[in-house]
Amino acid sequence: MKLESYIRNIPDFPKKGIQFKDITTLLNNGQAFKAAIDELAETLKGQKIDFVVAAEARGFILGGALSYKLGCGFVPVRKPGKLPYKTHSHSYSLEYGKNELHIHEDALPKGSKVLILDDLLATGGTAEALVNLVKKFEADIVGIAFLIELTELKGKEKFKDYPVYSLIKFDI
Ligand code: AMP
Repeated sequence: MKLESYIRNIPDFPKKGIQFKDITTLLNNGQAFKAAIDELAETLKGQKIDFVVAAEARGFILGGALSYKLGCGFVPVRKPGKLPYKTHSHSYSLEYGKNELHIHEDALPKGSKVLILDDLLATGGTAEALVNLVKKFEADIVGIAFLIELTELKGKEKFKDYPVYSLIKFDI
């Protein structure tokens, strides 16, 4: 299945110059959504994964489905003030301003094998924040997976220490 044909490109969203890759058109098609999750699971076949860690909001959609398929746990990473229990947090800079992400401080037991997942790899800032959150635990990051990679932005270079998987590559 040509998954890239289900991604809609929206020029100049949310601001001028950005080619926004809209995954709602893939999620909207049951066969394409299933194929995307099946292909991600196939790519990771043979690896021991105890938890998928992903950030709201789009990461939750893929992360929930992939965790179910892998038969592993799912750990939500959220914006400040959303998680009810004690959290670890990580702040990072964006092009404009700052962002902060939180994870429950008891989410990952010692020695757990963790897959980090996001819908799209652009500059890698978001996935790097997820790596930094997981590093607060005595857990092993077995890889970082994306549905889409924007190769021109070279975000992958931030993750030389880990295997990086992406199903769909776009050069813009
Ligand atoms: P980055 O932190 O630069 O790697 O950006 C990745 C995050 O921002 C992902 O969670 C995406 O959902 C979102 N994002 C960044 N660029 C795009 C884009 N061109 N199209 C769709 N989503 C994007």
